[in-house]
Amino acid sequence: MAKSVGVTLSEQIHTGLVVDHKLVDGLRRFPEDEDDYGALVEMHTDALVETICEQIVQAANGEKNLDAVGVAVPGLVKSGVVEEAPNLPQLKGTRLRDSISMKLHDHGIACPVTLLNDADGVAAGLAARHGKLDAMIQVWTVGMGIGYGRYPFTPGVWEGGHTVVTLDEKETFCGCGGRGHLEGIMGHRAMRLRFLDMEPEEVFAGAKKGDARCVEFKKLYHKALAAATATSIHMSGPGKFFLTGTYVKNVDLPMLKEYTQQMVKMSPLQGYSLEIVEESPEVRVIGSAVSAEQAAGV
Ligand SMILES: [Zn+2]
Repeated sequence: MAKSVGVTLSEQIHTGLVVDHKLVDGLRRFPEDEDDYGALVEMHTDALVETICEQIVQAANGEKNLDAVGVAVPGLVKSGVVEEAPNLPQLKGTRLRDSISMKLHDHGIACPVTLLNDADGVAAGLAARHGKLDAMIQVWTVGMGIGYGRYPFTPGVWEGGHTVVTLDEKETFCGCGGRGHLEGIMGHRAMRLRFLDMEPEEVFAGAKKGDARCVEFKKLYHKALAAATATSIHMSGPGKFFLTGTYVKNVDLPMLKEYTQQMVKMSPLQGYSLEIVEESPEVRVIGSAVSAEQAAGV
């Protein structure tokens, strides 16, 4: 019976004890109050590490024999080091895995700690929830930015949101500064920069009403996601793609499927599937724990 703690970092820290891929005793949230969401960004690295560890200890609820602890971070993570974390900039360059591991030791918890990208946590959590722990799952998280996650965990960079999907020289809206990126089309900030006079939701509402400029953009949005998906299929093979996130409501699945079909023509690669699914903080926390268990060989 695997017993692990899963953690996700965003504007809140979510923590939970996961036993056999299921959350027991519910989810812990810090800070609890929405008014205090800015608190984590303002914390010093040491204070943030201490807070994360306190949450893990409380979630473990006296259980010292944990198999693993998994911490999902929004950003680029490599070998236990946070290389890039736009939403928690104080973590950049931190050896977060070692810091958490040492501090947990002081609390009497000695188990392997794994850092992972949050989209990989979503992929693992969805794999667990849909009973697909033996399959390959790829996930697009459509939020403020575009995240790409995969399960099972495979070492690599996987910045799929920055897949190049157009050679148009005017496509320069990605926050990373790169030209032609998926997130430069689908990202929330990018859409605002493109339509200075309209909010993203107004653009999609306009497309529904037949406004030509909005319809054109809706096509571009879906072609971009289809192109990135097709690229992933051509590189990693077919499999299940889950689409999720705050703004996944903007995705028109039949349109996406049609464009993807136009872009993937080799018959051995056509066994992929695209599905929109709901996820939640619970799914992410379970995913963090499941990924950490696999990394630890549990
Ligand atoms: Zn980019």
